Amino acid sequence: MTPEQYFKAVPKTVDMNIRSELYSTNEFTFAVAVILSAQATDKKVNEVTPALFRVAPTPAKMLALGEDGLKEYIRVISFFNNKARSIMRLSAQLMNEDGANETDYKFPKKYHDREQLMKLPGIGQKTANVIMNVMWGMPNIGVDTHVFRNAHRYGWVGVDANTPEKVEEKLLQIIPKKYHAMVNHVMVLHGRYTCKALRPQCASCPVVGICTAHDKTA
Ligand code: SF4
Repeated sequence: MTPEQYFKAVPKTVDMNIRSELYSTNEFTFAVAVILSAQATDKKVNEVTPALFRVAPTPAKMLALGEDGLKEYIRVISFFNNKARSIMRLSAQLMNEDGANETDYKFPKKYHDREQLMKLPGIGQKTANVIMNVMWGMPNIGVDTHVFRNAHRYGWVGVDANTPEKVEEKLLQIIPKKYHAMVNHVMVLHGRYTCKALRPQCASCPVVGICTAHDKTA
């Protein structure tokens, strides 16, 4: 199954209107939600973020809440201590720049660049890709567990692509450019609900007729 065949068929079966299943209220809270979602499900993150973002929707208010205050909200999320530290460092950095008090927070334009964005505390490559892709429609490919697993499952990348960075590099080469902005969204939703890690739901998959995955179930 080629990427072209996949991206022609699968987007018709996932909700293309929702940009991310993570709850957020502005670009700052989206970044916080993405940081919290590392090795945690969106569902779990969404359980805690509405209350958190009511009190801390901006870098300034997050700093006012403080690290201990933040931990009270995110205690049920894995690695909450490290994540709290990253979020406070990110907030402190953004306090030095425009918009830190704006409820409709938007990252300063200089951060619409992956290298610049990744200079911010707590923002690694995957987080930067997801923010650029979801918030600004930029064609980066955020490689999370679903994208990583299924790029291998479909044979789009080889065993040597053993890190998210290597998978992204290969996907950018083999997936036609016109699909880049949707890759993360489509592969995450398809991977979460249909082409799952264990027992993929092949009977209800739109590419079952052309898929050559070795663990196909239909
Ligand atoms: S047919 Fe099955 S293995 Fe292939 S893409 Fe669909 S769900 Fe995944």
